[in-house]
Amino acid sequence: MSPVGRNSLMTALHVIERYALNTHGVVGSLYDAHTDNLLTTLPVKTNSISKTYVTKEPVSELKIIDNSNCINLLKTIDIEDELRVSIVLGIVQITKGILMLNNYELPIDHTILLIHYRHIKEEEHLPDDISIVRNSLPHSLSNDRATHIITSVRKGIEFVILLELTNNEYSNKIDSILKKLCKYFTISEANFLSKEDQQNINHLKPTIFTCIDEIRTLADTKNLSDICQSIHRFIFKYKHNIPLSYTLNSVQRIYYDDPSNQRISYKLDPSFLQNIEQKIVPLCNKFRTLDYLFSVKISPQLSKCLKSLIEETYEKISGVKKLYEEFQQLLAKKVFQFRQGNFEEPLFENELNSESLKLLNCELEALHDTVVKLQNKATFINKLKINYNMEYLNVADFEDTNDDQSTLEGKLICFNQQQNNYYLCSSDELLEKIPNNHETFCMRSLEKYQKNLSLRLVFADFSYCKYKLDIMKILNASNSISKVSSLIESNEMNVLLIGETGVGKSTFINAFVNYLAFHSLDDAKAGEPIVLIPVSFLITIGDQFEDKTIHFGQSDSNENRNNSGQSVTQHCQTYIFNIDNNVKIRIIDTPGIGDTRGIEQDNKNIEHILQYINHLPHLNAICFLLKPNTTRLNGFFRSCFMELFTFLGPNAHDNIVFCFTNTRATFYTPGNTAPVLKNMLKQLHADSVALFSKRNTFCFDSESFRYLAVIKATNEMVFDKNQENDFNESWKFSADESIRLLDFIKNKSKCTVNKFHSIRHAQMMITTLVRPILETIRNALRNLVLQDIDGNKRYVIEMYVHSISKSANLCTTCHCESSTKIDSIWIAINSMHECRILNECATCSCAIDKHLPILYTLECKASETKGTCFYSETQQMKDHLLQASFIFTRFLLHTTHISQNPFLPWFDLFIKEEKELYSEKSSSSLNATLCNSLYAVRKKYVEYLNEIKNDQEEIQLDSVYKCIEEILMHPIISEQMEAIKTSQMKILKDHEHDVSLQHPHMNMNEFLNSQTNNF
Ligand SMILES: [Zn+2]
Ligand SMILES: [Zn+2]
Repeated sequence: MSPVGRNSLMTALHVIERYALNTHGVVGSLYDAHTDNLLTTLPVKTNSISKTYVTKEPVSELKIIDNSNCINLLKTIDIEDELRVSIVLGIVQITKGILMLNNYELPIDHTILLIHYRHIKEEEHLPDDISIVRNSLPHSLSNDRATHIITSVRKGIEFVILLELTNNEYSNKIDSILKKLCKYFTISEANFLSKEDQQNINHLKPTIFTCIDEIRTLADTKNLSDICQSIHRFIFKYKHNIPLSYTLNSVQRIYYDDPSNQRISYKLDPSFLQNIEQKIVPLCNKFRTLDYLFSVKISPQLSKCLKSLIEETYEKISGVKKLYEEFQQLLAKKVFQFRQGNFEEPLFENELNSESLKLLNCELEALHDTVVKLQNKATFINKLKINYNMEYLNVADFEDTNDDQSTLEGKLICFNQQQNNYYLCSSDELLEKIPNNHETFCMRSLEKYQKNLSLRLVFADFSYCKYKLDIMKILNASNSISKVSSLIESNEMNVLLIGETGVGKSTFINAFVNYLAFHSLDDAKAGEPIVLIPVSFLITIGDQFEDKTIHFGQSDSNENRNNSGQSVTQHCQTYIFNIDNNVKIRIIDTPGIGDTRGIEQDNKNIEHILQYINHLPHLNAICFLLKPNTTRLNGFFRSCFMELFTFLGPNAHDNIVFCFTNTRATFYTPGNTAPVLKNMLKQLHADSVALFSKRNTFCFDSESFRYLAVIKATNEMVFDKNQENDFNESWKFSADESIRLLDFIKNKSKCTVNKFHSIRHAQMMITTLVRPILETIRNALRNLVLQDIDGNKRYVIEMYVHSISKSANLCTTCHCESSTKIDSIWIAINSMHECRILNECATCSCAIDKHLPILYTLECKASETKGTCFYSETQQMKDHLLQASFIFTRFLLHTTHISQNPFLPWFDLFIKEEKELYSEKSSSSLNATLCNSLYAVRKKYVEYLNEIKNDQEEIQLDSVYKCIEEILMHPIISEQMEAIKTSQMKILKDHEHDVSLQHPHMNMNEFLNSQTNNF
């Protein structure tokens, strides 16, 4: 394209005005208008320069800028468009003076007030006549960059006082005071502001922009009034004026006859200028604000606790900075070429609407979000420190891939063990969801700290973890499940063993481990058999058919083996042994199903099994142990099967295993049990039949193990040769099956237990929550009763939760023996009854169904820390918990067939206790009031119960979980739940038999590998 065609659009700049960006300019200085840089100075005949004093009054104006109406602060002090573009594109660098305004961070939600003072006092200039100008200058020009020559310099004083006000601070009053200030600067004898006006502005912190150092340095020390008065004194006696603006004449105009001096600077189209400014200034401001926030406010505070995140953000900022600078340089190049008159290049429109600009904008937006989040985090961490004396810990720093909740909690507990750490575990997500609870948790932590100053409060932030925390919780070493549960390592294979009472589970477990250890009966005879479970059985031996009881191993007092038909195992027992150096197998022996004590006991047993597996990190196999040739399966086997799978969900299907004992008689097959089992599975679900196949069916014979036990126990040969051959064969077959079973389990993916939601699981959670809810309601009522008689009472009663290491019960009929008095209220102290097997309480003679199982004890103490809204908060909590009980009851009613209401026995126990207290103790009138309150709550509950009896409207599982989640947000509820977990883990450990240490030599890996070919 020919430049001629565009010529009409382009205007050459002959005489221009420029703000004195560089204050070293004098008449005769050369200037490059392509880049707005001052060059060398030509010698000018001195007699041709004249100096005039300007008599114009100083201009002093107040300018009000809010973030929405201002793109570039330089525009507000009337800097020329062309120069502004050179500045924003970085063609010229500014390091001081008024133009530094360009670098000012325009804050969001603030108003900026500028007092702009400008007083031009004198002007040095060449004559207007261009021919005289030519004569005053040298005849030739030896600078090939110069486009203009300064022909006039205006000098004087200029400064800007910048005030940044929050929108709350800004008012019409401030406005009018500042206007008075503006006027004050223009009159030498003016009175300063009134005392009142001074007071109203003295808190404002000004920033001063000027080229005059004496004025700039005033801003550092004094208050605004003093600063203004000092400036006033200064400007009226200051004699040394500095260049404020230049008039420039083009070299082409002056040296018109010299063909080598035809450098022209063309004027950019004002709409381009505007466009560039509108696009790039916001980008630039945004970027600088971010950069400033990050490097000044965020990075120094967070660089330690969120190291990797800070580094990552720093990288991102550098990346965006590079993008921004590239874009700026591209535009700068265009502007430069344009000013030189190079019109060949396409116009700016392309660049200003380009993909790279969009990308830059996106990146900036994303970065903005990140930085804002970080800033919020920094503020939050600061608040924790100041308000709650709480330190911050980023849990992600400890996290490894695949860490689950218990692993992470274990790591927290183990971290810095010499300190008494008290962790509040939470995340951004949870904070956002329920901010009020955070406050409650923090207050609770602070109260703990005030009672125990050695406590170190730590906010454990799970926000950056791969593992997603689902509720806020408190964790400390003394109240932590993790210390115990981390003992269940992830390299353990957990096998759940389920079988009817009498199927021979104990013998099976013993046999299984010995089959794995000794591949032949001869090996076993020569070696030392492993006793996992001490067993004893009766055999008939010899010609006289003598009965002989064979004992294998030391007897265990937890077992009850006198009543056949009653489940031998009352609690899940676990047996741990080594498979190889790194892998342990944990067999979980469950209470037998089909207990002769009836459905009630079976239900309890199943509940217990589910509770148990609820605490395991994973399950590798669910093993059903059956006898061959069974003609019918106990109905309970069926419901147990169903319960387990509704609890675990379909992901457990792959982990099912069927094992058969005593299969020697059926030639090592399931015999008639196979069709019976198939039939049962079919009834459950048509697809379920596929769950039973040769692949996951294993046939054993425990007789050869019994034989070994007899040999070892009697040390004599009591069997004949034929029998011995049978046993040899039986051992061999069982050993092969054991290895096949182990191989099957090893190759299955784990079924993770802790992350599922099911109706059965929700039911279990609810049953567990009953006591925590009701105890909390009772204590809330206690406090309300106390506050009712004296609202100014400083004491409140707090519950302290203790975990226990043995399962225990409270008797609902026994008289309560001990009590304590806090303030003017009596509190019953429960005695724990140990209810063992056989429908009996070891402590009292009341029926077993008059007992309520417990997993923690409570201690009440007076506490002096009482929040300002204690009364209403307590009432709210009580109501919230009662509402939750309604939802839970309704859910249970719809989903279970168990007639027993879990809430009522607790209500009744509490009411009974209070009745006893007020009828037996002196000055116990408050207990009578409390009893009435409890009774009223119970009445409400029963009314609700009657209301919903015939109501068919179902409650969604999700809303039940939401409700559970919400009530766990009350610290006292979550503390009770944690204590239950801890107790359960303690009891669980109590029933654990670990022979992995006694038999460290039991390394079966090598052996297994050599056997693999057999299959
Ligand atoms: Zn009793
Ligand atoms: Zn009892």
